[in-house]
Amino acid sequence: MAEDPEGRRPVEGLRCPTCGARQAWTDTCRRCKSDLRLLREALAAYQRHRRCGLRDLQSGRLGSALRHARRCQELRPGPESRRLLVVCQLLRGDWLEAVDLARTVDAAGTETDH
Ligand SMILES: [Zn+2]
Repeated sequence: MAEDPEGRRPVEGLRCPTCGARQAWTDTCRRCKSDLRLLREALAAYQRHRRCGLRDLQSGRLGSALRHARRCQELRPGPESRRLLVVCQLLRGDWLEAVDLARTVDAAGTETDH
């Protein structure tokens, strides 16, 4: 359960939130010229919070890990963020919240696998 190879792999490329074009990380979309810098900053922040969250989990700082996990979920909602959040809640003993969240992970995991 502690191993999550997905989380350590750098994100390759991005999908433009405006037009959906897939491309390498750039400042502007190659197709619609949307400004993608904010997206990059959000992703960098997400990766920072995820790293801190995992580190806090390892050293048993569960309250702090949970805060980082919540930020991850805000910045980049998805199965990966929710899994981290579920782990934090389980370790803290927030069983009911964890079960609710785990259900959404299952649902989203089958839906958004692209
Ligand atoms: Zn675009």
